[in-house]
Amino acid sequence: MPTPNSNRPSDPPADLPDKCQPKPNNKRRGKLPPARVRALAINNLLAQLYPAPHTALRHDNPLQLLVATILSAQCTDERVNQVTPALFARYRTAEDFAHADPAELEALIRPTGYYRNKARLIRACCQQLVERFGGQVPRTLEELTSLPGIGRKTANVVLGDAYGIPGITVDTHVRRLSRRLGLTRHHDPVKIELTLMKLIPPAEWSAFSHRLILHGRAVCHARKPKCDSCILAALCPRIGVPPTSSPRPGAPRPRVFPRGGSPKAASAESGSLPAVSRKHGSGEGGSHQDDSQEDPRGSSSRRGTSVYGSRRVSPAKTSPQQLPSNRKNPNR
Ligand code: SF4
Repeated sequence: MPTPNSNRPSDPPADLPDKCQPKPNNKRRGKLPPARVRALAINNLLAQLYPAPHTALRHDNPLQLLVATILSAQCTDERVNQVTPALFARYRTAEDFAHADPAELEALIRPTGYYRNKARLIRACCQQLVERFGGQVPRTLEELTSLPGIGRKTANVVLGDAYGIPGITVDTHVRRLSRRLGLTRHHDPVKIELTLMKLIPPAEWSAFSHRLILHGRAVCHARKPKCDSCILAALCPRIGVPPTSSPRPGAPRPRVFPRGGSPKAASAESGSLPAVSRKHGSGEGGSHQDDSQEDPRGSSSRRGTSVYGSRRVSPAKTSPQQLPSNRKNPNR
């Protein structure tokens, strides 16, 4: 008895078990409205959750925000807020920071990590502020990014939160969410910024960035996004999100076999195999800070996880038996 869909060869038979049905793919996601339409709707929905977003870094003036943003690289805002009261009480002007004793400055900012490099950047930046801008923090992206240690991310934070000049701030959360939401396919922060600038009205640039950051911290986590309770679920293609992050009730656990192993051998070895993340799903994982443009270490870090499963990639180990073959025997 032919089924109603039997004239469509691409449709799988209806009696196939769930695990044999095709997985959702990007073609299905293409039914969503275009990014330009969804971006505005996403911003409106997020505005309901985060109506008046602003940076979590405490500051009283543009200089303090500039210094706090330098300190926030590879560090949480909470930790920065713990050290800045004493720091800003000790150094009040750009001239104070420019002439600060390195050891004293390092001691004050030590809890934020990479304190030697951050102290050097703060002093160099404030020396330039004194020499070129009369000790004032400039109001343009070009001038700000000409300062040592200041990239587009820091500059846009300062412009948006200190001067009310809108700009898209691309940090690790904005980068992750804008890709998952299908608003950009880029990885490069500058390209992501330029793409989002085309999708969002200028007046909303700063607020939209903050909303994505807050939503990334609260709901759309790097490893386990809470898609089931996300206000954006109907608009989100969930690009790069592991399918196991929001399992359908009653769905069987995905069975993935070790590299080189056979399904038969694996099933004989263990009755319950560990769930292994898929290639597309693992690309967004990790909560590492990956904003290389302002990395205080001078280079971006990468986690040592493989796209195949969760195996950690480590340098090939040489067995002790192999070593003497290419060395001279000292006893000869
Ligand atoms: S639906 Fe999921 S992937 Fe999309 S924004 Fe919400 S939590 Fe993130």
